[in-house]
Amino acid sequence: MNWAAQPESGAPDEASVLATAAAYAGAVVPADAAAEAAEAPTVADLLPAPAGDEATAHQDGSALVQMLGALVPAPVRPLPPGGPAALAERVGREFTPVLPELGLGPASLDALAAFLPEQTVRSAHPRTVAHLHCPPDPVAMAADTLVGVLNPSQDSWDQSAAPSAIEDEVLAAFSALAFGAAGSGAITSGGTESNHLALLLARDEAVRRGFGVEPAADGLPPAACGRLRILASAVGHFSLARAAAQLGLGERAVIPVPVLPDHRLDPRALARIAAEVTARGERIAAVVATAGTTDAGAIDPLVACAKTARAHGAWFHVDAAYGGGLLLSDVRRRLLDGLELADSASVDLHKLGWQTIPAGLLLTRDPAALAPLSRRAAYLSDADDEAEGYPNLLGRSLHTTRRADAVKILAACRHHGRAGYTRMIESCFGQAAYVAAHFEADPRFELALPPALTTVLFRYRARRGDPDRVNAAVRRDLLAAGKAVIGRTRLPEPAAGPGSLRLKLTLLRPQTTSAELDALLDLIGQTAADRDHPGT
Ligand SMILES: *Cc1c(COP(=O)(O)O)cnc(C)c1O
Repeated sequence: MNWAAQPESGAPDEASVLATAAAYAGAVVPADAAAEAAEAPTVADLLPAPAGDEATAHQDGSALVQMLGALVPAPVRPLPPGGPAALAERVGREFTPVLPELGLGPASLDALAAFLPEQTVRSAHPRTVAHLHCPPDPVAMAADTLVGVLNPSQDSWDQSAAPSAIEDEVLAAFSALAFGAAGSGAITSGGTESNHLALLLARDEAVRRGFGVEPAADGLPPAACGRLRILASAVGHFSLARAAAQLGLGERAVIPVPVLPDHRLDPRALARIAAEVTARGERIAAVVATAGTTDAGAIDPLVACAKTARAHGAWFHVDAAYGGGLLLSDVRRRLLDGLELADSASVDLHKLGWQTIPAGLLLTRDPAALAPLSRRAAYLSDADDEAEGYPNLLGRSLHTTRRADAVKILAACRHHGRAGYTRMIESCFGQAAYVAAHFEADPRFELALPPALTTVLFRYRARRGDPDRVNAAVRRDLLAAGKAVIGRTRLPEPAAGPGSLRLKLTLLRPQTTSAELDALLDLIGQTAADRDHPGT
């Protein structure tokens, strides 16, 4: 069903979905945007090959999409039942030795093509809702296949040609969406690498400005050791601390800033901590705001964070790995207001963007921000070639050999357009609002907090068992039976106990119907009741 325009029994109508979702998200959806959405073609119209639905993908897709539709059967279940041990045993039995003495020939690939679709978690199934693991867009799949066949490498022009120009256009377009004017950036493997790259730029800028040393050449000066700090939300992504460790700052350089009850960073606490850090003689290398926390989808107050960063001369990075997809939506873009003040932003199009993995972007406001990463290698791009107009591609990534992932991004963006993405995103917001309303109305469940984006945190109200144990078991029961892949996480301290474990539904499949959601909620409720009252 089309979530934004097709009322059906039990499902909220378009106006109420938009209004509820807007209220939940704190967004102001103007009446004209809602009206426009109602007049726009349906999701099905805009997605002749519905995102992730390989079964129907071939119906009116391009030749490449048709080929994929024929190759990969539609998912019949979210995952194989039986759990990891049995499956690993079967793989060992049927697919080893990995390198036989005599090759098997075509039987090798045919066996995998028969085995994998049934034995892989299918992100395109309506009951695969655990992670920011989207059903892939058939247009992206097909473009990915095209790139695989051509196999360009983005480390020198003479291994790439057109794909390097496509990468420039994609980065210019997305940095303009983020910052209002074309900046620059890098195509990455995802938020982890984007955050690493952003903190590398931030660290080097802080060392250059604060200590007069070029860290790329001379490393961290002793005076900087133990004195550079990164301020990020207490529920910021773990990759930030990991990057700090890898960058020689240490995980303890990341100071967690307390969050408000809705999981948004508390801007007053940020200002206070920043002042304390500076007063101690330490230097804030970066303030990191999250635009869409992985669990709650919370968007930190970006303008206030930018202000604190600026007041302390710090790099302002926005981890929009999840929420960055809203750049594609006319209706929801305003939730990212303040992003234009950032020095850099991480955006994962393999989350709220329906790309095949990987499709990460690190966007920078300053077109020259990545210049310090540039290198020259005689065998890839010597100066005389560059003088003759052959671009040196080495400044664009931490990688050397690198896939042309910009191609699939371009293909899908031009296929769907802003209107298409706006509808797909509205559908997922509508589903989150629908599910949250269900959890509020159903006494068997407890909604943890109103959804900010397209994830919903909740738990079953266990009456007999320990709530954390019952809810954890529900998720594993569903996994073991191959019936559903739902998420679990823990609420940040101080959790409103008893129990901090919550289940999570991540709604990223635009064409999911209210009937499919109802079936999933019934399944969760029934599985939980069995766990809570064994034998009844
Ligand atoms: C997913 C996520 C990341 C990590 O991104 P990967 O693409 O998995 O490397 C970082 N930050 C946030 C907020 C995320 O949701």
